Amino acid sequence: MAFNIKKIGIIGAGQMGNGIAHVCALAGYDVALNDIDAERIKAGIATINGNMARQVSRSRVSEEERQKAMARIVMAPQFEELADCDLLIEAAAEQEDVKRKIFTTLCPMLKADAIIGSNTSSISITRLASVTDRPERFIGIHFMNPVPLMELVELIRGIATDDVTFEATKSFIARLGKTIAVAEDFPAFIVNRILLPMINEAVYTLYEGVGSVEAIDTAMKLGANHPMGPLELADFIGLDTCLSVMQVLHEGLADSKYRPCPLLVKYVEAGWLGRKTQRGFYDYRGEKPVPTR
Ligand code: NAD
Repeated sequence: MAFNIKKIGIIGAGQMGNGIAHVCALAGYDVALNDIDAERIKAGIATINGNMARQVSRSRVSEEERQKAMARIVMAPQFEELADCDLLIEAAAEQEDVKRKIFTTLCPMLKADAIIGSNTSSISITRLASVTDRPERFIGIHFMNPVPLMELVELIRGIATDDVTFEATKSFIARLGKTIAVAEDFPAFIVNRILLPMINEAVYTLYEGVGSVEAIDTAMKLGANHPMGPLELADFIGLDTCLSVMQVLHEGLADSKYRPCPLLVKYVEAGWLGRKTQRGFYDYRGEKPVPTR
């Protein structure tokens, strides 16, 4: 039997959560946005508003559509306020203990048949599902960054995910106008299994002095026709997220070829997480990004 999704609760209003809220609201879904405090939710909504205004100025979205979409998004600082959602999408930090705590606290508040999706970049869907009261209604819905622009969504079934959940999620993604790639539930799925080792290798290339930040990014842009260099891309993703994905690959596949580069660890320990903290492999505090090495 088909499951009808009308209202979507999003946990985490950071770069992914606000992007997911943005595309859901434009597609006509009601959206409730949660984060650890109201200020973060407000900041997320302000980002959505700014990004939609840019789409209006480029004639991709009409002013009327923007206004209607913004009116569909409500703040939900408490999990209780997600009780009437049909689909929950968790887009909080890429840390398993954080996600587990969210699911165990959230589940008792939800409708019995609500579907839970996680936007995790790498963590086992089966393992996350196992801490919930509904592993059969749990699925990986992995959006790409920036969500309004990127066409792909990876869908990952856990061992218990049922067909109703899978089909309802597929219809939801189709309504967003995005394309699905189905991945099996193995560490980092498809995109990040391939992308993150490349980024980690770029950091090793820098660490070993094979090239400067600029040389490495120029080499891959002009030499491999990538739209962004790997270090620029790492800053865009967030170096904390990059490190977490490498750790999941390293532990999950127990192969030393996935060991995170010590230089990546150092940047994360410094709190230089890329664009979101204004410093990573580039310094974004001035007019133009400047390499930090
Ligand atoms: P981010 O740091 O921009 O945002 C995370 C948000 O989650 C923050 O606003 C934080 O306050 C909030 N949060 C943390 N703990 C919470 C809790 N207990 N309850 C509610 N909110 C909480 O991170 P992001 O880049 O948006 O990543 C979010 C998720 O999406 C991660 O799992 C990440 O792996 C995944 N993801 C990231 C990318 C990317 O390119 N950055 C791409 C695809 C998927």
